[in-house]
Amino acid sequence: MAPASTSRPFGPPIVIAHRGACGYLPEHSFPAKAYAHALGADFLEQDVVLTRDDVPIVFHDLILEEVTDVATLFASRGRADGHWYAIDFSYAELQTLALHDRIETGGAATWPHRFGERLPLRIHSLAEELTLVRGLNRATGKSVGVYTEVKSPAWHRAAGKDLAPRVLSVLADFGYRTAADACWLQCFDAAELARIRFELGSQLRLVQLIGENAWAEAATDYDALRTPAGLAGVARYAQGIGPWIAQIATWPSAGAAPLISSLVADAHAAGLAVHAYTFRIDQLPAHAPDADAAQRALFELAGVDGLFSDFPDVSLAFLGRRKDCP
Ligand code: CA
Repeated sequence: MAPASTSRPFGPPIVIAHRGACGYLPEHSFPAKAYAHALGADFLEQDVVLTRDDVPIVFHDLILEEVTDVATLFASRGRADGHWYAIDFSYAELQTLALHDRIETGGAATWPHRFGERLPLRIHSLAEELTLVRGLNRATGKSVGVYTEVKSPAWHRAAGKDLAPRVLSVLADFGYRTAADACWLQCFDAAELARIRFELGSQLRLVQLIGENAWAEAATDYDALRTPAGLAGVARYAQGIGPWIAQIATWPSAGAAPLISSLVADAHAAGLAVHAYTFRIDQLPAHAPDADAAQRALFELAGVDGLFSDFPDVSLAFLGRRKDCP
């Protein structure tokens, strides 16, 4: 692997509260967002999917049962594949569900040492979340930004729904319209991002998320996107890429030094910022010795420009920016 650049063409690195401060409170709940705002995150993340009645909601999955009590409240509304889909429910119905920490099939907690309590935490719309951010920014004098993901646009289109224009419309309603606004718009689907730029005419900063082809997140060839030629193509419509951590830093074995790929340097050479996902102190990269070492590899050795973090305070502390250390 080639040595990576640690120059910072995009300024000081940012911390993006992944689904809110979801290391501490159920993902995409208002408490998780307010807590992330209080901890000092630079951006709060919104994943967005549509309801049956076309309301953009802040929710990570197409399916509901891993973070809500839908299987109990609407036992008969699952599909034949055993899943309950957000798109099969009205916004009013979804508001009767309670959010909880993520669970696996069978009910075990995905991250057993997190919040783990049951409370009436509600699913909310994108407009409501942007209202929360506006109010918190007003009350605190901060200017925390929003970092919104258009989830599975091709899947929505196959279901007869066009997600991206609805997301852009809500963002515009709250003043997020141009590259100067405190907003990034992210998507795994390269064709949809190009459409957002060229057909829908968005001037927002766009981030091309990069997964592995095996994940089947979108009909996008991520192996091709990660090459210098692919990154040059991304730079025609986007301002950044969002690769996952293993595409940047890997530890071949316990005690070994991290291997840093050329991806960050290649992206910088193409004029693209790099915001990596996802940092979790309870799910470190394989063989990474500790959280500090993982973040050092990303921020200092690779030179990423931002990190999606379930624990924004830990990432801010690493960057010397945490003000509330106990
Ligand atoms: Ca996301």
